[in-house]
Amino acid sequence: HDAIDAHAHIAVYSEDADALYQRRFTLLNDFGSALESQDQLRLVYQPRIDITTGACIGAEALLRWDHPTLGAVGPSEFIPVIERSGLAHATTAWVLATAMRQQRQWRDQGLHLQMSVNVSAANLLEPDFAEALLAGLRQRGLPPDCMELEITESAIMAQPVKAHAMLEKIAATGVKLAIDDFGTGYSSLSYLQRMPADVVKIDQTFVIGLEDDTRKQALVATMITLSQDLGHRVVAEGVECEEVLIFLRLAGCDEAQGFLFARPMEADVFTDWCPVPAAAIPGRSALPHYAY
Ligand code: C2E
Ligand code: MG
Ligand code: MG
Ligand code: MG
Repeated sequence: HDAIDAHAHIAVYSEDADALYQRRFTLLNDFGSALESQDQLRLVYQPRIDITTGACIGAEALLRWDHPTLGAVGPSEFIPVIERSGLAHATTAWVLATAMRQQRQWRDQGLHLQMSVNVSAANLLEPDFAEALLAGLRQRGLPPDCMELEITESAIMAQPVKAHAMLEKIAATGVKLAIDDFGTGYSSLSYLQRMPADVVKIDQTFVIGLEDDTRKQALVATMITLSQDLGHRVVAEGVECEEVLIFLRLAGCDEAQGFLFARPMEADVFTDWCPVPAAAIPGRSALPHYAY
């Protein structure tokens, strides 16, 4: 979207294009110090809900940047900028270390969730990515299958052969793999068939507004069946209302994520929101069930 917007602005208001360019330059320039700062970057966590039971079974870690002068900058703005600059390696290393530390803390509290982390296309080209991942898990005593990496369909399709080789290596470690933003990246069905992914996440553009759109309903129902027939678990992103949840449940979708349940939250808010099993904390009752 960004590229299209930028062109539209250049044609009409060139001062807007300058401002946009300046802002990107600032973001790029300042991200290195953000990585070292200890207080500019943080992760927030959004729950993943099992549609059948209503239980919270996982969390997706999402990166936030509190820039000292620009204020809050969202990842859809700064991630593409830093991805073009060679900073993806350090960023993903920071995100993985932080998410693993949080996962360790949750498990120590008796909260057992799948933790998913978004990774960049460039990470799939790092020769020692899978080894570093395993080393991080071992260091914290985490079982590989409690972590999941989300890779967008377009990131995979940018370098399909190399990406596929790395996905095979990651899959061999026991860390789970999810294809993110599924349906937006022009991957062929023959490619999906060979993908070593555990999970397919249907992009929110197909899910938002599905309640009044029979074409979206047809697409989503087909994506669910196809992905499940190929052995993947299916997560719908962008579930904002009850009608959509009901549709997904009837269509046999496995998991849902979206503002209907919760927005991404700070770790401690997430912990309160997603009660741990009763046994772990005195005074806490059973696992949550969401009425729908
Ligand atoms: P994504 O991985 O597809 O993450 C889902 C995005 O949808 C998140 O936006 C989330 O806040 C938003 N979302 C969740 N539920 C709803 C809903 O019901 N309605 C709507 N309208 N939106 C919903 P966020 O946090 O701004 O992240 C945007 C994208 O930035 C992510 O898309 C991901 O591609 C990227 N990103 C975020 N954190 C990281 C990171 O640590 N590393 C990398 N490489 N990319 C990241
Ligand atoms: Mg994601
Ligand atoms: Mg997504
Ligand atoms: Mg997305």
